[in-house]
Amino acid sequence: MSGILFAMERTLDALREKLTAWQGCDLAKDAKPVLGEGSPDAEILFIGEAPGAKEDAESRPFVGSAGHFLDELIESIGLKREDVYISNIVKYRPPNNRDPTPEEKAKCMPWLMLEIAIIRPRIIVPLGRHSLGHFFPDITISDAHGKAFPLTEDITIFPMYHPAAALHNGGLRGALKADFQALRDFLQTVS
Ligand code: URA
Repeated sequence: MSGILFAMERTLDALREKLTAWQGCDLAKDAKPVLGEGSPDAEILFIGEAPGAKEDAESRPFVGSAGHFLDELIESIGLKREDVYISNIVKYRPPNNRDPTPEEKAKCMPWLMLEIAIIRPRIIVPLGRHSLGHFFPDITISDAHGKAFPLTEDITIFPMYHPAAALHNGGLRGALKADFQALRDFLQTVS
């Protein structure tokens, strides 16, 4: 992987091409690669957990029911899916949608780091505990959601519940909708 990092052209197209050829994670044997998608100039980067069946079939992130809900939430703050960037911690569907293992997350992490380096978002929104755990392993999603955590001078982490969890739990759904409004308010303070 380190050879790839230094040799490659730093564009999302180049990244997609390299990921397609990569076999560094066992999940790649039975699943298609799913890199993130969206604007290379996005101010906001949403990060989920791992692709599901629909994402694997289309090789695109968040295109199933959780993705449709995420699209609705993005539109509720006056943006479109094409304005933001949407990705995942793990780039392949785990069998039967099981949780990704710590090893699978670690193996796929450099791809996410490269996406962040190319896009240079101002706000990173970890969706759910797997994604939050990468940035803040000691904070729970129920404590962190809807709050702004400065990471560097240029990047703020703004955790939220995962839209798939919110689809099955009315309480979380309300919290997620409210967190998007808080994100809209936060965007106004930084723009
Ligand atoms: N859930 C995720 O975490 N990512 C997807 O791409 C789809 C569903």
